[in-house]
Amino acid sequence: MTMQYVFPTYARFPFAIEDGQGVYLTDNHGKQYLDFTAGIGVCNFGYHQPQIQQAVTQQLTQIWHTSNLYESELQDGVAQLLTNGDDRLVYFANSGTEANEAALKLARKYTGKTAILAFNHSFHGRTYGSMSMTGNAHIQAGYAPLVPGIQFADYNDDAALAQITPDLAAVILEVVQGEGGVYAGDPDWLKAVNAKCQATGALLIIDEVQSGIGRTGYRMAYEGYGLDPDIYTVAKGLANGLPVGAMVGRQKFASAFGPGSHGSTFAGNALAMAAAQSVLQQLTPEFLTTVREHADVVWQALSDQIATLPSVQAITGKGLMIGIHLDPQLPVQQVIEALQTAGLLTLSAGDNTLRLLPPLVMQPSELLAGITTIAQVLTELTTEV
Ligand SMILES: *Cc1c(COP(=O)(O)O)cnc(C)c1O
Repeated sequence: MTMQYVFPTYARFPFAIEDGQGVYLTDNHGKQYLDFTAGIGVCNFGYHQPQIQQAVTQQLTQIWHTSNLYESELQDGVAQLLTNGDDRLVYFANSGTEANEAALKLARKYTGKTAILAFNHSFHGRTYGSMSMTGNAHIQAGYAPLVPGIQFADYNDDAALAQITPDLAAVILEVVQGEGGVYAGDPDWLKAVNAKCQATGALLIIDEVQSGIGRTGYRMAYEGYGLDPDIYTVAKGLANGLPVGAMVGRQKFASAFGPGSHGSTFAGNALAMAAAQSVLQQLTPEFLTTVREHADVVWQALSDQIATLPSVQAITGKGLMIGIHLDPQLPVQQVIEALQTAGLLTLSAGDNTLRLLPPLVMQPSELLAGITTIAQVLTELTTEV
């Protein structure tokens, strides 16, 4: 089957995923895969997870959609879980890019300023505002004119600090750049950016769309760095596969986001909220500790089995968000296909980086089995080259 009726915006692999159970997926040929993708960091609790399944099934029998013209205890409950005791409010959206649009709009409206500082190799989404803040010429190509007022600096570079001035509305960054190549922020640099934002009044927006919801072993990756953003955004893992996004900002910003200032028909959809509620209820400190412990096991195996291979230049990331940077001689696409044949699904990022985003519920034995498969495949392919 080759897809004929859909715009070819994705280069798709020639098989379809038809079912999933736990951390395994089955394709339309009946082949089984261990999943190191989680649907690009979405299905953190795997497939057919009983609690989430039950929460959504229950909601399916009640109401699927109501407009946002009525109160929703479900939305407010999810927002309360998300804010986790902080003095913050939530705006719901349907995707990561929409959550970042909301952050951009709120930052400009609240501060009355327009200038935004974003970073090279970032990714914030595909709609105009988010794309304009995405530091990747390939993603922006052909779409000019972009949203004005957005400037860029190099990530992890002290020179960026001089660009944080009182005329900025906001600085937006990922604490671990995902699509750009799985680059973790330098802890001291991130702290310096946060401090400079506080000193100048520029709002710090942290895009946690990929790094949040437990991916790095913390509820939000910024917590692992001791940062205090004014706004953060989440999406991918929030509802384990149902479309949702959220922008979380300080309570004092409510004056800029009053009735009529922003909205979306589907945002806060009941089915997505039921799933998000179950996800957040399960994102306990104990669960996060387990993720960090499992990540330690994985990083040890990476350093023992993968970092030493001649085709591997570096391994970057944090927690269960991992980038294996490959020698340009070995195209990542070839590695991904060889791993598929070996029964392991993986992703790419940046220029030539193999990206791993396994479900957070994956057990160490399965994580280690996947790493061993990667080591074998990389070894075989390197001997062939
Ligand atoms: C995926 C991603 C987005 C965009 O999310 P969509 O739901 O695809 O719009 C934004 N920011 C980051 C960091 C992402 O990884």
